Amino acid sequence: MSRQPVLFVSHGAPDVLLNPGASVRLWERLGAELPRPRAILVISAHWAARVPTVSTAASPETIHDFGGFPPALYQMSYPAPGAPELARRVRDLLAEAGLPNGDVPERGLDHGAWIPLTAMYPAADLPVVQLALQPFAGPDWHRRLGAALRPLRDEGVLILASGAVTHNFNWLTWGANGAPEPQAVEFAGWLGDALARDDRPALLDYRRVAPHGAGAHPTEEHLLPLFAALGAAEPGEKPLRLEPEYTYSGLAMDAYLWQNDSPTSFTAEP
Ligand code: ZN
Repeated sequence: MSRQPVLFVSHGAPDVLLNPGASVRLWERLGAELPRPRAILVISAHWAARVPTVSTAASPETIHDFGGFPPALYQMSYPAPGAPELARRVRDLLAEAGLPNGDVPERGLDHGAWIPLTAMYPAADLPVVQLALQPFAGPDWHRRLGAALRPLRDEGVLILASGAVTHNFNWLTWGANGAPEPQAVEFAGWLGDALARDDRPALLDYRRVAPHGAGAHPTEEHLLPLFAALGAAEPGEKPLRLEPEYTYSGLAMDAYLWQNDSPTSFTAEP
């Protein structure tokens, strides 16, 4: 089976699906054009656990883990099947890498998972497993997690990391997509350059060395999935940066795609 890419997406605010713009169109194109996976492993900013934990649910429920958005969002569901055998495989890989791990039987899909998946794979016919991150364990821990999971790419599994390139609510103008917030643009640009160089020391130290590094992520759970994706990429494998838009001025909706040795070459423009 050919190698699967690794994808990081900025999932944005949940209502991105109600007002579909460039980000949703990008996700739709990714789902249509990337090699079809056997299953998907999602590492979302919206599930934290003490140790790396997978859900073994056979039919994960759709979790509406947000407040204050239009009722239509709470009616949405993403009835993808689970993949208990993939959950088991993830635990085995983590154990082989010397990492602690656990599972829970009933945890469903949070919006970090189902928002992009609804656009990418609207039929909801691919099995999905989620893996919880550790919000206080830092970038290098998550890079190690991702590296442990790299063999899944050769087993037909798409690793989908879902977070945000910028996540400072003080930078947002809710309800309006005005000019991008300059600090968000500067941080997103630095991140793109560092990833293009695969400058892992700088990336792992982003809070200290990046412009507005700590400002872009007052808490860092939304950037940690990026480090898991980075770990799942081969050292030296450089991602394609996709920059659809800024939503609410402050949310850079950038996605990154590592696709070396993948049968498809996705490009920024269709
Ligand atoms: Zn989020």
